[in-house]
This record gives sequence, structure tokens and C-alpha cells, in this order.
Amino acid sequence: MPGFPRDGCIRCGTCCLKGGPTLHHEDKKLLLNGHAGYEHLVTIRKGEVVFDPALGAPRPAGQELVKVRGKGNGWSCCLFDEKSSACRVYEHRFLECRLLKCWDPADLVAVIGVHTIARTDVINPGDPVQQVIMAHEKECPPDEVRILIGGLSRGEDRTKTLAALTRLVRRDLAVRHYARTEMGLRAEHEYFIFGRPLPRILASHGIMIHKRTAGNRPGEV
Ligand code: SF4
Ligand code: SF4
Repeated sequence: MPGFPRDGCIRCGTCCLKGGPTLHHEDKKLLLNGHAGYEHLVTIRKGEVVFDPALGAPRPAGQELVKVRGKGNGWSCCLFDEKSSACRVYEHRFLECRLLKCWDPADLVAVIGVHTIARTDVINPGDPVQQVIMAHEKECPPDEVRILIGGLSRGEDRTKTLAALTRLVRRDLAVRHYARTEMGLRAEHEYFIFGRPLPRILASHGIMIHKRTAGNRPGEV
């Protein structure tokens, strides 16, 4: 955060570089009006480990959340234009962005987890991708992933745990592949529709799942 004391925003962008906002129902009009789209979003699935700014520590998400995604592998908000050091949707920015005051977090803290949206709030109810999302939740549940990661970090039966994670990775990738090839899901919408791919989540925990061309062993897909 910039130097203190401060009592007004100087639009330095430091907060934008730390991560994009979580979306609330108040933000749906911003999507409806085309100021941002699915390609700018990432879903945090219920049970996925997230950093809780109020706690200052990671914890499992108690509900599904939709956030503005980061650039590349990082969390720096994808709507922040570093060249001009400005927000691309500043005039229409999201609720949390309007409430964020780095010198006084009270307004932002008051809305954390309140009236937030889930994927179903912004996907047409008749869209067949809803069925595939449900299948993905069943095939690759974040709670199971989290428990296995915990077991691995405690050194519990490494071979068995890696084999179970590998199975989940295969299922995660298979559902994504089906949605892209059979349903025409656009690659840039995938993080919103299914959340981050499991190999990427595992990599953030230091667990690498490698691709093999023939014959799979635990830890390889
Ligand atoms: S609220 Fe964000 S953009 Fe404004 S001064 Fe603080 S860190 Fe900079
Ligand atoms: S949407 Fe705009 S104001 Fe909000 S974090 Fe991203 S760049 Fe910053």
C-alpha cells in the first residue's frame, strides 16, 4: 500500500495489482452492459482454498465466488492497464473497487462475503453448460482436492494420495476438453465456467502433475 497518512484515493493502482474484486449482485449490471465479460472472470469453487483478507490467512471458501481474474499466473487485476496505470472500467467499476480505501478498510470489510454472486446468477438458466458444471462439481470436488492436498503435506501415503489427485486431474481436464470440443466453450471463458484448472491449483501448492505420452503412473496424466 502507498505511504500513509492518506485520506483520498490517488489512483496509484497498488490495490489493483494485489488482485481483482469479488463480484456482488450490484455488479451484474456491469456484465449485462458489456463493461466486462466471462473472459475477465474466474470462479472460486466452494471448498477451494482462498486467501481471506479479513483473516489475513488462507481458508476454504465457504461459498462459491466469482472474481475478476488476474493476469497470467498472477492475481494482478486483468482490467488494470499498467501502461496508463488506470482501470479500464473505472467509470463503471465494481462495488468492491468503489468501496476500497487503502487508508480505511472498514467499508470493504463490511461487504466481504455479503450478497456475492455465483456462476448460476450470471449464466442463462437454459444454457446446457449448467449441466456440465454440475458434472464437473461431482467429478472433481474441491473438498476432496483440499483433503488430499492436506494429506500430502502431512506426508500421508504419498503414492496413494498422488494417484487419487491424478485421477481428479484427469477428470477435471476431461470435462474441460468435452466442453471445448463438444460444446464450443471458448477457451477464454473456461476459468469462469470451471474455475482454475486443477493442475494450476496443485502447482500453487507445489504439487506438479506431469503429462506422459504412454503409461501413466501416480503424478502423471
Ligand atoms: S485505494 Fe488503491 S488506488 Fe487508491 S490510493 Fe489506495 S492503493 Fe492506490
Ligand atoms: S476492476 Fe479496475 S479498479 Fe477494480 S481492481 Fe480491477 S483495475 Fe482496479
